[in-house]
Amino acid sequence: MKKPKIRELCEALRSFFSRPFTTTFPLTAHEPAKKFRGKPEYNEDTCVGCGACFQVCPSKAIDMVDEIKDGLGRRILIHHPKDCLFCGECERNCITGDGIKLSRIFDIAYFDEKDVQDRIEHELLLCKHCGQVIGAVKHLTWIRKKLGNLAFSQPVLISRFTGEIRLATGAEESFSGETDRTDILKTVCPGCRRLAFISDEGGER
Ligand code: SF4
Ligand code: SF4
Repeated sequence: MKKPKIRELCEALRSFFSRPFTTTFPLTAHEPAKKFRGKPEYNEDTCVGCGACFQVCPSKAIDMVDEIKDGLGRRILIHHPKDCLFCGECERNCITGDGIKLSRIFDIAYFDEKDVQDRIEHELLLCKHCGQVIGAVKHLTWIRKKLGNLAFSQPVLISRFTGEIRLATGAEESFSGETDRTDILKTVCPGCRRLAFISDEGGER
């Protein structure tokens, strides 16, 4: 048998008499390192519901569901820790920079995955004519503020703004059957706006 070297013997003795290097978790709470990349969490105040985090997630750990019921729409974003790589792409690509952040939470063992999921909901803006999803209301408001006066070049943003300052009335947003040129500035999806433009030029639909 090969004899142990002196250096290895010293190392073994030192280890035997020294305190364990590992933490005593779960007897005492473990404090992760400052830059630890744990479970991503949404921030109700700063997430605007754009869906960029859902699009960039490489492991499809984020679900985005648009639900429409009784003429009202809501967008639900759900983070699934079981699929997450903790890569940080969602945080890095968040348009507000703060809507989703990797927390220092590491203890995410579960019996029911729903107990550890993080979710956030947003109101959706729907086309007043055909009911198609235009986007999250908070996202459009965020874009309008970001663009400043440039927002007045986009019909939906104009109608959002007039709604926010309570200038628009229900009558201005109502439709009488088909779209016509007066509907160009209403809250309509790109498809219905195109039809309104075509009707304006007297072309075929
Ligand atoms: S940390 Fe990476 S894998 Fe996890 S949700 Fe964000 S983008 Fe997806
Ligand atoms: S604001 Fe950020 S966190 Fe919210 S949906 Fe967009 S990318 Fe995701």
